[in-house]
Amino acid sequence: MSDDSQGNILQAIDQVQQQVALAAARVGRDPRQIKLVAVTKTVSAETAGQALQGGLKDLGENRVQELLVKYPRLPGARWHLIGHLQTNKVKSVIDKVSLIHSLDSWHLAREIDRRAGELAVSVQVLVQVNVAGELSKYGLAPGEVADFLQDLSKLPNIQVQGLMTIAPRVDRAEEVRPVFRELKQMAEQYHGIAPGISMNMLSMGMTNDYMVAVEEGATLIRVGTALFGPRR
Ligand SMILES: *Cc1c(COP(=O)(O)O)cnc(C)c1O
Repeated sequence: MSDDSQGNILQAIDQVQQQVALAAARVGRDPRQIKLVAVTKTVSAETAGQALQGGLKDLGENRVQELLVKYPRLPGARWHLIGHLQTNKVKSVIDKVSLIHSLDSWHLAREIDRRAGELAVSVQVLVQVNVAGELSKYGLAPGEVADFLQDLSKLPNIQVQGLMTIAPRVDRAEEVRPVFRELKQMAEQYHGIAPGISMNMLSMGMTNDYMVAVEEGATLIRVGTALFGPRR
């Protein structure tokens, strides 16, 4: 671990946090409402550890396998699962993650609830919404969300905290503002839709678009490249 890379990461954390503060200020939000999740996929546990030492407690992985490798090596991290979760992997992660951002089917919800029940834990989740309707992305269509939330409220071991989306890849972040705005509107609409359903968390925004997401109400931003550099 070179001092140099530690320095770079500290600088990058600082830069992102400054941009978050500026974006929040532009719309009169308190920057403390926005949590930076460091996305450590493809990054070594050592490098992820530098982010942890730099004060970022929340780390995100999109693959279960990679999360399980880093998990024992980074005690003190709060883990976020941000990618598609297969039902056969639920058992191995639900006692290790603090938030699953990517709940995208009833089948998965049932399995999470069942395994959580066995362990007598309560699992915090966000419902992933495919706002832009991209065929390549997971997530519910906006029109399916209300019924899904009603159904989820019947599962005793799952606590829905809000919504998550991945915006389409665009050249100018401004182009995805409507996507973030729609997710925020959905959260407002579905607040209190059923018992046990909270809409306090909005996970939206990545390296290319997190400033716009913050302006539109993100409470969790998932940032990899801006912290660790481009992935190979
Ligand atoms: C990889 C990934 C990110 C981070 O992307 P960057 O562009 O590197 O910031 C965020 N969210 C999800 C779901 C991802 O898979």
